[in-house]
Amino acid sequence: MSDLDTFRAETRAWLEANCPPEMRQPVRSEADACWGGKRFVFQSEAQKLWLQRMGERGWTVPTWPKEYGGGGLDPAQAKVLREEMARLTCRPPLQSFGIWMLGPALLKYGSEAHKRQYLPPIARGEIRWCQGYSEPDAGSDLASLATKCELHDDDYVINGQKIWTSYADKADWIFCLVRTDAEAPKHLGISFVLFDMATPGVTTRPITLISGKSPFCETFFDDVRVEKANLVGTLNRGWDVAKYLLAHERTMIGAMGEVGAGRPLSGVARDSIGTDDQGRLDAPVLRARIAEMEADAIAFRASLERVGDQVKAGQAHPAVASMLKYYGSELNKRRHELLMAAGGIDALEWEGERSRNGQGARDWLRTKANSIEGGTSEIQLNILAKHILRLPGA
Ligand SMILES: Cc1cc2nc3c(=O)[nH]c(=O)nc-3n(C[C@H](O)[C@H](O)[C@H](O)COP(=O)(O)OP(=O)(O)OC[C@H]3O[C@@H](n4cnc5c(N)ncnc54)[C@H](O)[C@@H]3O)c2cc1C
Repeated sequence: MSDLDTFRAETRAWLEANCPPEMRQPVRSEADACWGGKRFVFQSEAQKLWLQRMGERGWTVPTWPKEYGGGGLDPAQAKVLREEMARLTCRPPLQSFGIWMLGPALLKYGSEAHKRQYLPPIARGEIRWCQGYSEPDAGSDLASLATKCELHDDDYVINGQKIWTSYADKADWIFCLVRTDAEAPKHLGISFVLFDMATPGVTTRPITLISGKSPFCETFFDDVRVEKANLVGTLNRGWDVAKYLLAHERTMIGAMGEVGAGRPLSGVARDSIGTDDQGRLDAPVLRARIAEMEADAIAFRASLERVGDQVKAGQAHPAVASMLKYYGSELNKRRHELLMAAGGIDALEWEGERSRNGQGARDWLRTKANSIEGGTSEIQLNILAKHILRLPGA
C-alpha cells in the first residue's frame, strides 16, 4: 500500500468509529449547521461531540499547521479526507468565517503571537467571528470606508458604523476595516483590526428581512478601545490584508456552485414531471436546460480542480477568485431556478412537513444574495475586465 492508501484506510476507520450516526445525515437547513462560538446552542449531543472530535484532531482545518490547531495534512491527504467524509455523508463539523476568511489572512499577515492566540480557538470552534467591512456608503466601493480609528495613549479608539454584518449579534469577535489616515489616498489609509464584540461601545441592531429572519446587523462603534497589538499587518496597509481575505471569501462563495449541488436536478424533475415512453424526462425544454446546466457544472468542477492545482504550484492569477465567485454564484442561482421549475407548484410551498417548511423555496431565495455578498457580480466582471482581459477603460 502507498502512504496515501494507508492514510485513506486509517481515515476511513477513524471516521467510521468517530462520526456519530446523526452527523451522517445531509444538512437539511441552516438550523443543522454548527457555527460554534461561546453562545452557540448545539442542536444535539452528537453535533457537539462531532465538533469536539474533529477539532481535537485538527480536521476542521485539515491543511493548517498543527501548531496552530490544524491537521497538518498535505493537499493530497486533505482531498482523501474530503472524499472519505463524502463517502460516509459526514456533515461539516463547523461553519466558520474564522476558517473561511480570517484564518487564511492571519496565516499570511498575522504575527506569530496572532497565530498562536487566534487560530487554535477558530479550529476548535470556540470563537465565532464576524466581518466588519461594508458601511452605509462603502459597499462595492469598499475603499471609501469611513469608520475612524485614532491612537489615544496606547490604544486605538474606533468610531463609526458597519452594515450587513452577518451574524454580528451572534459573533464573539470581529475582523474590521478602519480608516487610520484620513489624508492619504483612500486605499492607503486603511488598517485591519480585531476586537471582542463585548468591548464597551460596540452595539448591534439586527436587520429584519421580508422573510422575518435577521441574518445580519447594523453594527455601531462608539469610542471602542482596542489594544494596539490587535492590528494585523502594517498600519495603513490593511487594504492588502482585506483583498487577500476577500479572495478567500470569493472562492468560498464561488465553490457553492459545486457543493450546493444536493440532489441531482434530473431526479427531482423526474419525480415531479414523470418520464416519456423512452424513459426520458417528459418535458423536452426543461430536459435541455437541465442537461446544459449539468454540463456547465461539470466544467466548473474541472475549473475548480485546475485552479486548485495552479494555486498549489503558485501559478494562479490573483483575479482568479473573481472568476470563481462570479461563475460559481451565477451557477448556483441557475441551479435553484431550475430546481423550482423542476419541482413545479409544490416547490413554492412555504410551510408544512412535506416541504420541510419550504426549505427549497427558502434556499432558492437565499441564492439571490450569492451574487451580492462578498462583492457583486458586476464588480467581479469589472475586475476580470481590468486584470485578465485588460480591456481599455475597465
Ligand atoms: C447575504 C449577505 C451577507 C453579507 N454579509 C456581509 C458581512 O458579513 N460583512 C460585510 O462587511 N458585508 C456583508 N455584506 C455586504 C456586501 O459585501 C455588499 O452588499 C456588497 O459589497 C455590495 O455593496 P452594496 O450593498 O453597498 O451595493 P452597492 O455598492 O450600492 O451596489 C448597488 C448596485 O450597483 C452596482 N455597482 C456598484 N458599483 C458598480 C460599478 N463600479 N460597476 C458596475 N456596477 C456597480 C452593484 O453591482 C449593485 O448591483 C453582505 C451582503 C449580503 C447580501
